[in-house]
Amino acid sequence: MIVVMKPGASQRLIDHIIERIEQLGLRSHVIVGTERTVIAALGEKRDGAKQALETGDGVDKVVPILAPFKMASTEVKQERTEVAANGLKIGGKRIGVIAGPCSVESREQILEIAAIVREAGATGLRGGAFKPRTSPYSFQGMKEKGLELLAEARSQTGLSIVTEVMAPEHVKLVAGYADVLQVGARNMQNYPLLEAVGESNLAVLLKRGPSATMEEFLLAAEYILKQGNTRVMLCERGIRTFEDHTRFTLPLATVPFLHQTTHLPVVVDPSHGTGKASLVATMARAAVAAGADGLMVEVHPDPEKALSDGFQALTPAAFRQMMAECRQVAIAIGREL
Ligand code: PEP
Ligand code: MN
Repeated sequence: MIVVMKPGASQRLIDHIIERIEQLGLRSHVIVGTERTVIAALGEKRDGAKQALETGDGVDKVVPILAPFKMASTEVKQERTEVAANGLKIGGKRIGVIAGPCSVESREQILEIAAIVREAGATGLRGGAFKPRTSPYSFQGMKEKGLELLAEARSQTGLSIVTEVMAPEHVKLVAGYADVLQVGARNMQNYPLLEAVGESNLAVLLKRGPSATMEEFLLAAEYILKQGNTRVMLCERGIRTFEDHTRFTLPLATVPFLHQTTHLPVVVDPSHGTGKASLVATMARAAVAAGADGLMVEVHPDPEKALSDGFQALTPAAFRQMMAECRQVAIAIGREL
């Protein structure tokens, strides 16, 4: 339920309602709006709770939250959420770009690409140090050494570091180096991991599972929000279909749909979404046109030599070109990049 307070309700009345919610065995989550405060009362449905809260001083009305994902829903918060992680800002007028290699491979590679993507206008540097690979024989990432190199790239460029965490027991380690914790597509429904990143104080980029519905995606985000971490970004990265001309199928209707159902910012990853470098820039432009708040793109100084996902990585020149084109589309729809 959402308890909508009357405009100008005092802090004392708000605190009293919070106390009442907690006495009813529910969790409270306060959202301070420009005009009025609303308090979400979350938990199992309880008889009489609505009436008990409705009669409280300062309460305007109590309305049920229909969506199964409560804190992520626009029913609870209409204003769009902007997630900031140092210089990286996603969810405002300016579209944030997170770019970099699939994996951190060496000091030279990550420092070189960091300087290139920064120069081209990215504000986030991606790079996996812990890599989820389909085959156990594939390169698994540089692990902590990779994290150290990412931190070095941040200190040279000021870029915010976005890197994947694969296991709850690694959250503390990765959070020691990263600005944004990435939960990969394969882990979208790893509930202990979602709770662990929800307990950290870093922003989280949650990637959609390749076979997850929108409801499952938003409920996964809800696991993170419920732990008190409100800095969640949703990332569409393509789903599995019968189609095989692309690695995955990139459904861009996800962007306006999510903008209708959630206040969380939406990022699109056209690299994994297509799996082909030649298709990435066009789909990045389409994502911007569809209203994406951010882009996540794989770029490598020498894609042919990449240790993972080289076939979908842009060269530095192709990335610069993509940025210039996306900027034009952003301007056309009243945004910036
Ligand atoms: C990645 O970002 O490199 C990655 C592994 O992505 P996903 O989890 O979407 O497959
Ligand atoms: Mn990759």
